[in-house]
Amino acid sequence: HDRDTTTGRTTGLPVDTGAHPLLSVRDLRVAFGEREVLHGVDLDVRRGERVAIVGQSGSGKSTLIAALLRLLPGAGRITGGEIRLGDDDLAHADEALMRRVRGGRIGLVPQDPSTNLNPSMRVGAQIADALRAGGLRGRSAVRQRVVELMTEAGIPEAARRADQYPHEFSGGMRQRILIAVALARQPELLIADEPTSALDVTVQRQILDHLQTLVDQHGTTLLFVTHDLGVAADRTDRVVVMLDGEIVEQGAPAAILRDPQHEYTKRLIAAAP
Ligand code: ADP
Ligand code: MG
Repeated sequence: HDRDTTTGRTTGLPVDTGAHPLLSVRDLRVAFGEREVLHGVDLDVRRGERVAIVGQSGSGKSTLIAALLRLLPGAGRITGGEIRLGDDDLAHADEALMRRVRGGRIGLVPQDPSTNLNPSMRVGAQIADALRAGGLRGRSAVRQRVVELMTEAGIPEAARRADQYPHEFSGGMRQRILIAVALARQPELLIADEPTSALDVTVQRQILDHLQTLVDQHGTTLLFVTHDLGVAADRTDRVVVMLDGEIVEQGAPAAILRDPQHEYTKRLIAAAP
């Protein structure tokens, strides 16, 4: 496959540089009660692109993700703007459409693996459910795909370990299982919200490398949330910097690192190890 000229990235599927992005967020505003925490966010993500959202804790990264999925906690609500996914406006979509979006079109790798696997169900069965939700049929075909996905996600002895329960896996392995679950539904957009922040640095890097390989193989579009600019710059096509509920800067990782425009980005780079 050719190297994409806009991003310099080699993928199974080329980045679509056409006029219609997969995801297009316009002037998105979110409030918790009376307090506005997203102050008009604009963000486009093209098909096949890997975009990192970087920003310190409290800058609104998870709120943005929750708004995309219409899963804002507590008194959170969208107070303005649009969220276009393909032809749909998720900011104004009904619950039936949002269930379909959450059930397949957008996949989420959550921050904390401990709360997102069913403790009383074998991990292979959980991946199999996701595969069937994505339309795969046939007992042996599903079983084979479960083992393939686990192997691709970096879980050794997948055929045996598919029959184990979540508590029999380390935190890092559970995170890999969640990546397999998310990919099983073949999402158009895979979102990972600080998927490794609960893990030690070596395991983080291994998992991120696997995530990168997987999205490349599957041609999946990735929105990757992290507070670590170094991690973001290594593994994505574009870095979006958030501060206090606004996007303050975005661009190719090399350009951001070489020539940051915003004071906050300069501080992030100076603080990086
Ligand atoms: P990040 O993911 O970048 O750390 P968040 O999106 O979690 O940031 O938080 C953005 C802002 O929204 C913060 O000021 C936070 O206190 C506020 N916030 C997040 N969740 C809630 C909630 N459930 N209720 C009220 N405020 C919240
Ligand atoms: Mg967060």
